[in-house]
Amino acid sequence: MALENTKYDCNKKNLNSKCKFCGKDLKPIGLDYLYVNISPEFIEYERCTCEKSINYWKEIDMKDQKQKKRQHYKEIINQFYSQNYISKRLKEYKFDNFKVTDINKKEVEIAKDYTNKCINNKLENGLIITGNSGVGKTHLAASISNELIEKDILVLIGRLTSLLDMIKETFKDNSKSKNELIDLFSNLDMIVIDDLGTEKISQWALDKLYTIIENRNENKLPIIITTRFNKQNLLNRFYQSNDKDLSNAIIQKLYQMCYGIELKKYDENEKEKVSTSNQTKC
Ligand SMILES: [Zn+2]
Repeated sequence: MALENTKYDCNKKNLNSKCKFCGKDLKPIGLDYLYVNISPEFIEYERCTCEKSINYWKEIDMKDQKQKKRQHYKEIINQFYSQNYISKRLKEYKFDNFKVTDINKKEVEIAKDYTNKCINNKLENGLIITGNSGVGKTHLAASISNELIEKDILVLIGRLTSLLDMIKETFKDNSKSKNELIDLFSNLDMIVIDDLGTEKISQWALDKLYTIIENRNENKLPIIITTRFNKQNLLNRFYQSNDKDLSNAIIQKLYQMCYGIELKKYDENEKEKVSTSNQTKC
């Protein structure tokens, strides 16, 4: 095929497009339009400089950027789950396999309601799930997470150290910057920090935690915490970092941002006692 036949003559074929706001003629950009086999919708035109067009493109560009960022976050999260055994195991925890008993059914309902509000974007508050070990805190938090993930909501769930290790890893791996991960933690739809306070917390970890909580609060994004400690004991655990002021600030902010639910241990022998005491209350 002769070369001249494979090209459009721009003027003859009238490839100009018009601005849909002010009607100005717009010229195609790049060289793609020169080829016969390109379909018209893929031809890119210059952008008009009228005000309405500028605003129109600003919005398109912002959406596009947001989409790209989300995709990038998704890749980082998937990488984390593929490398993190515990977080991988958490994927099996669902509301369906959570053992509902007389003593926790109210809390499970609250957790389900919280999940639905998250899905419908009607939520800024976080959730602190407390209770002794073995009562199902992690299971409940992971059930919420998995339900959100199914709805294509971006969730990161893990212990504080494994989450923060992602930042440390970036010192070795130049493909992700430290700020990029702080940005991810600050903007992700949901972050779940499991078993907070169990691990010894360093000054460095405390600093990072503060930044993340502060940013999420500002961005009106929720956070879920599970912990076996009550407020005062969690604070005491944080004091190990030797920064009492920062510890106080974190705990205060966290309890401001979050609803609290406490899971209790179900004990067959206690069952009768509990219902008796409930009756006397009534
Ligand atoms: Zn225009």
